[in-house]
Amino acid sequence: MTGKASDTPHWLFGDQLGSHFVDPARGGPHRDSPLLMIESRSVFRRRRFHRAKAHLILSAMRHRAAELGDRVRYVKADTYRQGLREAVGDTEVTVHHPTSHAAHAFVSALPSVRVLPARGFLVPHDAFRTWADERTTEHLRQEDFYRWVRRTHDLLMEGDRPAGGRWNLDHDNRQPPPRGVTDLGVPAPYRPRESDIDDEVRSDLDRWVRDGDVEFVGDDAPRGFPATRREALAALRRFMEHRLVTFGAHEDAVLSGDATMSHSLLSSSLNLGLLDPAECVERAEARWRSGDVPLNSAEGFVRQIAGWREFVWHLYWYFGTGYRESNALRHHEPLPDWFRELSPDGTEANCLSHAVEQVRATGWTHHIPRLMILGSFALQRGWDPRAVTDWFHRSFVDGYDWVMVPNVVGMSQYADGGRMTTKPYTSGGAYIDRMSDLCRPCRYKPSVRVGEDACPFTAGYWNLLHRHRDRFEHNARMTRAVRGLDRLRDLDALLQQERDRSD
Ligand SMILES: Cc1cc2nc3c(=O)[nH]c(=O)nc-3n(C[C@H](O)[C@H](O)[C@H](O)COP(=O)(O)OP(=O)(O)OC[C@H]3O[C@@H](n4cnc5c(N)ncnc54)[C@H](O)[C@@H]3O)c2cc1C
Ligand code: SF4
Repeated sequence: MTGKASDTPHWLFGDQLGSHFVDPARGGPHRDSPLLMIESRSVFRRRRFHRAKAHLILSAMRHRAAELGDRVRYVKADTYRQGLREAVGDTEVTVHHPTSHAAHAFVSALPSVRVLPARGFLVPHDAFRTWADERTTEHLRQEDFYRWVRRTHDLLMEGDRPAGGRWNLDHDNRQPPPRGVTDLGVPAPYRPRESDIDDEVRSDLDRWVRDGDVEFVGDDAPRGFPATRREALAALRRFMEHRLVTFGAHEDAVLSGDATMSHSLLSSSLNLGLLDPAECVERAEARWRSGDVPLNSAEGFVRQIAGWREFVWHLYWYFGTGYRESNALRHHEPLPDWFRELSPDGTEANCLSHAVEQVRATGWTHHIPRLMILGSFALQRGWDPRAVTDWFHRSFVDGYDWVMVPNVVGMSQYADGGRMTTKPYTSGGAYIDRMSDLCRPCRYKPSVRVGEDACPFTAGYWNLLHRHRDRFEHNARMTRAVRGLDRLRDLDALLQQERDRSD
């Protein structure tokens, strides 16, 4: 097999950095194959990324190159095409299946590039396709998929039954935050220490900006996420030993003084390929089996990785390239400047300002600010889902095309009309009030929908239901909510108020 010859160079993309991307025993290149990495400047020129994200990716690539030493040729080029030409000319090269449609189309079109199967996920493409083809597209549900993965990978199983007798422990895992505290009081997550490579990355980014070559958004700050396998393993170990135990109960809660709660902060390491999802779920299961963490925490974490992360990855490929264009609700409003610039002062809504501030400072928030604050607001205001996807992609350290498109187009903006979720994920202020401590200091009141104190989420929720009444009343999971519109005696005033709202 030519791809396995020891002299065939193997190309590593910037999100293929772990040892499982160079493992001959798992379909990777020959152990003596020379490796190639290409740092393409045009990637950073095309979009205005968060500075922390650009820093993390470059730092991780350069750290990996330093580890690989003489085995790798590290090329800094304007584009991938130029880098490839400079490094290997027309020589045959292998590469593992890239993670975006654009990169996959690019490598597939080059006769000299041989594409090896994808790495970094639990379920191979053909297995997912077989699973999905047995169902109609309308019935591809994450819960079914997750149970199938649990069975086929023997994860948290007791024979053919789920551990503890129940597949889904969401009920135990959706508790509001404890009252009267501003943080959960769990040990802090792992934070890396910067190296000389980070200094070099920082000075390169400064120079690119000075030269007017690229622009960034968000704060420059000490690197907050792992850039090497060693750091990623330290982060995984810290999470497993100190934080997984409390992961479950308040997974959906938000506290003003605790940005990270009990979340793992492993998404960027998984998405850079520094961690393999199998090792993450196996360790979580082992912690439960040894009696160190409760089942709801282990199951909640396994669900995020073996359920959501896998599902999102496969839907990205299964739904194809046109999916990103979906706009079932015909939302076309532009994002306001303050949101694009990550300026928390642009809004008086405390929850929103708080989430935007977190993104500006770190390029990360946990899933509830993403889904139920930032994404929900965008949906209610009718912002263009493509622009929202682009914003998330650029602003988050863990944002990649494959993960952003389904999460934003499908899950958060309902722009696919329900192919991914059974109903839109959005709410009025009451949900945010129940699940956070953000409403009390807010100048709005979550229970008020019209007038000076009207909460933009409460009013925005009814406004959205009204705008799409025809569609939503035919959705069995929305019928009751839509009927609620008929009980609102102040609906006209509310609709006028939302038309006049400036943000
Ligand atoms: C609008 C929106 C945009 C998102 N964009 C991204 C993104 O660009 N990159 C990204 O990795 N995740 C994304 N997510 C999913 C999720 O919010 C993040 O993975 C998570 O918040 C990262 O923090 P964590 O590592 O502490 O996660 P934890 O809460 O500790 O969860 C563990 C792991 O599960 C995985 N995971 C959980 N949910 C998802 C999901 N829906 N899709 C993919 N992986 C998931 C992640 O790898 C995560 O590290 C998005 C969610 C929403 C609603
Ligand atoms: S009152 Fe409304 S705007 Fe203010 S924090 Fe609560 S949900 Fe957000």
